[in-house]
Amino acid sequence: MITIKNLVKTYTTRSKTTTALNGINLEIGKGEIFGIIGHSGAGKSTLIRCINMLEQPTSGSVWIGDTDMTRLGKRQLQRQRRRIGMIFQHFNLLSSATIYDNIAFPLRLERMSRSEIDRKVKAMLELVGLTEHATKYPAQLSGGQKQRVGIARALATDPNVLLCDEATSALDPQTTDSILRLLLDINRKLGLTIVLITHEMHVIQSICDKVAVINDGIIAEQGPVIEVFLKP
Ligand code: ADP
Ligand code: ADP
Repeated sequence: MITIKNLVKTYTTRSKTTTALNGINLEIGKGEIFGIIGHSGAGKSTLIRCINMLEQPTSGSVWIGDTDMTRLGKRQLQRQRRRIGMIFQHFNLLSSATIYDNIAFPLRLERMSRSEIDRKVKAMLELVGLTEHATKYPAQLSGGQKQRVGIARALATDPNVLLCDEATSALDPQTTDSILRLLLDINRKLGLTIVLITHEMHVIQSICDKVAVINDGIIAEQGPVIEVFLKP
């Protein structure tokens, strides 16, 4: 489903060059929940942002199905991005828009009809359990509810991949668990491939099938969670 080959990303700022990713190779299967764990500065954000080309890799390739994301023109990239949802640590909701409008936003960009949008937004609200909150604004919701809106918005365009960038790091342990349960539920229901980055072992152990440990821009280890973490 996702194949990352020899991925290198360097950042150059004025005098300094930082190698954030130094030859990453990963194979993520369809329908898997794949976790990437590492310390702060290990390269996790850079790696996940290279999957949907929010960062342009320096070299190497990122295949989603039979498309090399690094070789797409602007138009083709926009089309591919609809198939890739993303959720964020700080939710990234539009504060001046209602919950309904936040979820409708990516659908309006696709110029769907009003009635189609309405049907889709309502289905998403139900999926994440926020039907009663449609007319509220983000500031009126708890952190966990805001992340549910983030998930609903990310799934509205029917992606086959969901990228989660420290999606539970701003939440308390109980809320974290309910969001992880929702992600697991969505994975099982929709067959969605989920890639998540985290610095928390607990997140990996509670829902991931496979894990890669990233350290200094290199994959130190990868495999099924039980094999990687239960080794002597
Ligand atoms: P993580 O998500 O694991 O904390 P990052 O991918 O954010 O790691 O960062 C990896 C390395 O790349 C760090 O040394 C960081 O300082 C550097 N880095 C990340 N983004 C940029 C950027 N936009 N410009 C320069 N250096 C960056
Ligand atoms: P997080 O811990 O949430 O990954 P980071 O501190 O890694 O946050 O990065 C926050 C933002 O700052 C990102 O957009 C990242 O690309 C950028 N960034 C990180 N390190 C640097 C750096 N050394 N120079 C410039 N920008 C950076």
